[in-house]
Amino acid sequence: MAECRARKRAVLLVPMPLQGHMTPMLQLGSILYSKGFSIVVAHSEFRPPNPLNHPEFIFHPLSDDSSGYKTSLVNLMDLISAINSNCRAPLQEYLGQLMKDQKLEGCQVACVIYDSVLFFVDSVATQMKIPGIVLRTNMASYMLLYRCIFQLQAQNLLPFPESRLQEPVSELYPLRFKDLPFSINAEISEELMDFFDSMVNIRSSVAVIFNTTDCLEHSSLSLLQKQYQVPFFPIGPFHKMAPAASTSFLEEDQTCIAWLEKQAPNSVLYVSLGSIASINEQELTETAWGLANSGIPFLWVVRCDSLNEAQSVDHFLDGHFKDSVGERGLIVKWAPQKKVLAHRAVGGFWSHCGWNSTIESICEGVPMICRPLFGDQRLNARYLTCVWKVGLEMENVLDRGSIEKAIRRLMIDTEGKEMRQDMLLMKDKIEASLQKGGSSYESLNDLTQFINSFSTAARE
Ligand code: UDP
Repeated sequence: MAECRARKRAVLLVPMPLQGHMTPMLQLGSILYSKGFSIVVAHSEFRPPNPLNHPEFIFHPLSDDSSGYKTSLVNLMDLISAINSNCRAPLQEYLGQLMKDQKLEGCQVACVIYDSVLFFVDSVATQMKIPGIVLRTNMASYMLLYRCIFQLQAQNLLPFPESRLQEPVSELYPLRFKDLPFSINAEISEELMDFFDSMVNIRSSVAVIFNTTDCLEHSSLSLLQKQYQVPFFPIGPFHKMAPAASTSFLEEDQTCIAWLEKQAPNSVLYVSLGSIASINEQELTETAWGLANSGIPFLWVVRCDSLNEAQSVDHFLDGHFKDSVGERGLIVKWAPQKKVLAHRAVGGFWSHCGWNSTIESICEGVPMICRPLFGDQRLNARYLTCVWKVGLEMENVLDRGSIEKAIRRLMIDTEGKEMRQDMLLMKDKIEASLQKGGSSYESLNDLTQFINSFSTAARE
């Protein structure tokens, strides 16, 4: 803790080792560092962050015994559960150590900020008498969806009839039952119900931080604030407040920026399904030919594990496809996404609608084609298409004709041009919320004061 002596107060961050969770946690660390706190990151050994990208932070690995896990959808719940049970003792020990050190060095651990799926951190923090704060890396509105599942269960409506999935959920406009985070037309296990409960229960946490902003979710934030007795801090979008350090687990292929330089303004469609989602062979083939036949330049991220049938993607994307596309299309394994979206050549984003991708696109005024797959992606896609009206839904991902049509609607038709205009208006509103007097700016100042108000005396 000698490094943090000059700063007097440290914030301990406990991130979940998934790209869409790690990135906002590290960005939050950078934001709080800029507010004068020392940042200590206690992370799992499985997929650790790269300390070289954040020389100003202190990193501490928690031995987690989960190195055999892979991050695919199949075992996401297992990964969450393993980290929750395996990291408890190491975190307890480390916090104890930090608290002894702070007496020696005069640097106080003011609070622990933890990812909303790492429930165990709350009980460790409570035991050590340190305030815990939850970081929610999804839209705030996501919390409302779990409540809906509980209501259906209380009304004995689960499993929900397949024939009613298209119906709207009355209190959650514009969502339909099919947009809820898990399929409700099949049996939901008790274990999964417990997980849902943990997702809405903030336990003894003293506050909630959201990577969102009031102008995006005003009514959901107000509704939720009435249900929870602790302060909310919607201080996003984090990436616009934090300096641009890399937070990627995979190496970013920078060559695509040189390729973008050669393209006309707003001409390129950027295609990426984020860090976890995978698709089947048929969808990959139809995507490839939809892109090829559209005539639109494209930059497509195809990860090594983009196919859900554990086979190499390469043989699908060579030969005839490459000849048809030529220089008009570029495929990379991982892109510097924020730089790509900010590039003047990019005019559209075909996305799985993860929350980070969604806000990154909004912040650059890039309209979207929505292809949600699971979890919060359906919610985000509904907001993009029906509330903010800056995205269109991909209707049939297994048909190259439909894909081609959707691409042309977004990139060429008047409809796409209007969406781009609306996206630019949203971008302006978000920029205003980050300026002095804006909601995120002020909320961050409130959060800083809140953390500074935690008294050492309270825990002695
Ligand atoms: N990302 C990236 N390069 C890529 C694809 C994605 O840097 O080629 C980043 C993207 O900018 C975002 C994150 O990975 O910050 C993905 O998070 P998101 O919440 O959108 O989706 P998830 O991966 O969690 O499903």
